[in-house]
Amino acid sequence: MILVLLGAPGSGKGTLAQALQTQKVARQISTGDLFRREIAAGTPLGKKIKEDLDAGKLMSDEETLALVAKEINDDVILDGYPRNLKQAGDLEDLLAKRNKKIDLVINLFADEPTIVDRIINRVICSKCHAIFNTKYSPPRKTGTCDVCGGELVHRKEDEATTIARRIAIYEEKTKPLLKHYKQLCPMLEVDSRRENAIEYVKLHLAKLNLKSGQ
Ligand SMILES: [Zn+2]
Repeated sequence: MILVLLGAPGSGKGTLAQALQTQKVARQISTGDLFRREIAAGTPLGKKIKEDLDAGKLMSDEETLALVAKEINDDVILDGYPRNLKQAGDLEDLLAKRNKKIDLVINLFADEPTIVDRIINRVICSKCHAIFNTKYSPPRKTGTCDVCGGELVHRKEDEATTIARRIAIYEEKTKPLLKHYKQLCPMLEVDSRRENAIEYVKLHLAKLNLKSGQ
């Protein structure tokens, strides 16, 4: 089962993908995590990624594809990929070669005030990358990860000053994917403010005979 999770920054993609992974529905593939892992492993690709990031460049579509291709196997949820139409085409080619297809695209939507509020209050574990929100889903102990005890940090990319730019990039590059996928595969629209988003998604997967709601 291949799931693709779409949504603006701050729409709660990471949180939903983590929950689906915890509940053993699908393994989360987060491109951000893949980049960090490759850098930590010190591979030639990891060194190149680090150079690009340090220079303030975005990952190329080719580098991203190379990392994603290694990870795609049975039950996965792609969180943060594809981000543009070129990457969507790359993904379709890759899946076709492996006799796979996207089974469901989940679009998480939220209004802009909610998005901004989520992002500025978001903290992430520096060790295991679990996500918390100091306002909506605070950790039991301030500044400490509930999962592994690691230190919670506020990411640079989540600063208030960069949010408008990130939303603009999403609108221009990623949002066109919605129209693209509407013609290509089943889609599920999820209001990210709904309480039981995870149950809602699981129920829908069961309906599509993808996975029984465990
Ligand atoms: Zn942690």
